[in-house]
Amino acid sequence: MTDLASPPAVATEAGAGTDRLTPSERDRILAKAALFSPPPAVLADGRRELVGLSREEMTQALAEIGEKPFRTKQLWHWIYHQGVTDFARMSSIAKPLQAKLAERFVVGRPVAATVQTSSDETRKFLFRFRDGQEAETVYIPDRREDRGAVCISSQVGCTLSCRFCHTGTQGLVRNLGTAEIVGQFMAARDSYGEWPSPRGETPRLLSTIVLMGMGEPLYNYDNVARAMRIVMDGEGIGLSRRRITLSTSGVVPMMDRCGEELGVNLAVSLHAVRDELRDEIVPLNRKYPIAELIAACRRYPAASNARRITFEYVMLRGVNDSEAEARELVRLIAGIPAKVNLIPFNPWPGSAYLPSTREQLDRFAQIVMDAGFASPIRMPRGRDILAACGQLRTESRRTRPVAA
Ligand code: SF4
Repeated sequence: MTDLASPPAVATEAGAGTDRLTPSERDRILAKAALFSPPPAVLADGRRELVGLSREEMTQALAEIGEKPFRTKQLWHWIYHQGVTDFARMSSIAKPLQAKLAERFVVGRPVAATVQTSSDETRKFLFRFRDGQEAETVYIPDRREDRGAVCISSQVGCTLSCRFCHTGTQGLVRNLGTAEIVGQFMAARDSYGEWPSPRGETPRLLSTIVLMGMGEPLYNYDNVARAMRIVMDGEGIGLSRRRITLSTSGVVPMMDRCGEELGVNLAVSLHAVRDELRDEIVPLNRKYPIAELIAACRRYPAASNARRITFEYVMLRGVNDSEAEARELVRLIAGIPAKVNLIPFNPWPGSAYLPSTREQLDRFAQIVMDAGFASPIRMPRGRDILAACGQLRTESRRTRPVAA
């Protein structure tokens, strides 16, 4: 774990359980965490970003310019159902009010600095935010059906330095704001022309969200939670919580909060079944060891047979892929409604590991399957554009000094 790891981590946990900290500890931690906050969602000319505001905040912002609460419903529909960014196209709003809104507000998107489409049709976006920081978002189409998953980033960089992950080599630059998180999904939709938001069972290309891009979402929980509430709102994008999966390396206290408050699907980056090894490849394990992590999975409220917890397991040749480890894995997760995604390691420049052989992958998968768990081998997608699991990284760097 890097030096940058603890401030946002503990601060977020402080929000969940401040009683464990003394007031001075809490103040110190919050001051450090503020260094990683996203910039305010306001343009240089003073116009305020509407994307990312809750309904209540939007109502408040409109009240400040003398507009009634019912305008929130109208704007919400245009912004999140129709996907409109230009007030002049909001035809149910009178022209004078359109102009007034345009003077005070903006409906923005992150800028797609580059868009690469893989030979397997996976599409990777490098999004640039207003302060010039960048994060990646990946659309992974389903090969069999007209739908797919949008893999969204929650931070620029990451604190956690998982040994197999390219993002982890970047360090944490900052947390993404609510508008920047929702904006990734909306901009990806723009790219596929998928507005207005499809209703109910209407087929949709961008049908699920996986919070598995850059960053640890539970270290930026407040912004992630706000963004997911917007995405789930039935009068806008309207994605059900069953279509959202949050992936964590195991921030145990926040897993409880996420389950209670959001109830989205949970994926856990397990990758090792012994603390000694997991301490090394997922350094967060030193703080929340395997037994605590598995206990948090057992009590995760959204887990049921219909909505299983996904355990992600990157297969590293000769490191974590033995048959004994497969047996230990099924012992650990026995009784949890779960599936195990086996991820062939995707090398990146400078990575220290090799992918497991196909034979070893199959042997491992068979043991897991024989124990009654689905264990799909996730074929890498978008590898030619470095869009596969663990390959995301941007050139964004931290420029502000970190407090001592
Ligand atoms: S695997 Fe996830 S949590 Fe670990 S370093 Fe990479 S982005 Fe961060």
